[in-house]
Amino acid sequence: MRCEVVAVGTELLLGQIVDTNSSWIGEQLALVGIDSLRQTKVGDNMDRIVAVLTEAVERAEAVIVCGGLGPTQDDITRDAIARVMGVELDLDDAVAARIEAMFGGRGRRMPMNNLRQAEVPVGATAIADPQPGTAPGLICPFTRPGPDGEPVAKVIYAVPGVPYEMKEIMTRAILPDLSARAGVTAAIRSRTLRTWGESESGLAERLADRMDTIDRAAAAGRSGVTIAFLASGIEGLKVRLTAKAPTAEEAEALLAEEEAEVRAVLGPDLVFGIDDETMESAVLGLLGRAGLTLALAESLTGGLAASRVTDVPGASRSFRGAVVSYASEVKHDLLDVPDGPVVSAAAAEAMASGARRTLGADVGLAFTGVAGPDPQDGEAPGTVFVGLDLAGEVTSVRLQLPGDRLRVRQFSVISGLGLLRT
Ligand code: ATP
Ligand code: MG
Repeated sequence: MRCEVVAVGTELLLGQIVDTNSSWIGEQLALVGIDSLRQTKVGDNMDRIVAVLTEAVERAEAVIVCGGLGPTQDDITRDAIARVMGVELDLDDAVAARIEAMFGGRGRRMPMNNLRQAEVPVGATAIADPQPGTAPGLICPFTRPGPDGEPVAKVIYAVPGVPYEMKEIMTRAILPDLSARAGVTAAIRSRTLRTWGESESGLAERLADRMDTIDRAAAAGRSGVTIAFLASGIEGLKVRLTAKAPTAEEAEALLAEEEAEVRAVLGPDLVFGIDDETMESAVLGLLGRAGLTLALAESLTGGLAASRVTDVPGASRSFRGAVVSYASEVKHDLLDVPDGPVVSAAAAEAMASGARRTLGADVGLAFTGVAGPDPQDGEAPGTVFVGLDLAGEVTSVRLQLPGDRLRVRQFSVISGLGLLRT
């Protein structure tokens, strides 16, 4: 089975974004053992997309298109695929219902444009997006007359441009479908280690030896494992391990072995969870198992920590509540924070104890600092003190966090929660 990749988006041609999607897809195809013949970039232009796709399906049996599936007028990948297949677009009722439900659920009127995302070429199958109500991926099988006029099976896959959604749909639906069509029998298993506390280059440096070993084994045709780093900003860095083997059991075993190797290199402090686990779910899990409850006092984070903690289903088992003590008087009146600078270790510790006492919890965690853009109490933006009261044992940590206001606040939460793991 020969495969080509087409990345759609004028911004790719203008150099505004780098086409990391095609590289990732190419890597996955190689891993599954499907020939990846050519990668093309094309702008958001109907005639050119149709021309590129038509040429690609002449040469290859499978074509993966990424981008241009959104609801706006310049998202024309769906229409282009229908033209290449020589079919009409038809409303997929199930997809339409999901999109409508999402808007209905939010009490918002749905712009008619959004229904465009529910249109699929006749004969195609829609693959639901992980975020309900946005663009689905597409599996579009059709035939083309071969040299002797007999029909030759072709398939075009469409995936969203947003890297996270693209990877999810590729892994869950498209690579399995492609492998089945290609008659590839290998089983693939992957797992994501979630990390916090090290930069991407730092992780790469720590894992350099491991990756060398894998590369050498791959060159000798002996390895079925790959390691990839996925940056996800405020969620920390992800290390994705993928294993390929003749059977599912062997792939599982290979993956478990690789996970153990990588965990041994990175250590328990850096790896806080796997797959969909977040720092907040990992921490709530720990507290739950230890039978401990948590109270928060939030200044610069303004309730963000409480919001993220309560995003976790079942948070009520361990989470007592939070005091958003933004003004100095509130810190003083509600949490007994003594007079003095509020961006300080002393204030953070007093806030943590105050929250623990006031809200009746075992553990108090407090955030005070400078989100920016202006300095405060003589401290620069990004200066954050996290206070911790563990059943009366009070400590604090001073952090210097990078980024704008949003990032400083988000990084404060994940760093602060991370302290509860150690
Ligand atoms: P949406 O529903 O979000 O509009 P879409 O399928 O229309 O999805 P695009 O609008 O093409 O996707 O791209 C959305 C975003 O995804 C882009 O702004 C860009 O940040 C990122 N993106 C798109 N294509 C690529 C690519 N080839 N490589 C890396 N990132 C990409
Ligand atoms: Mg778009």
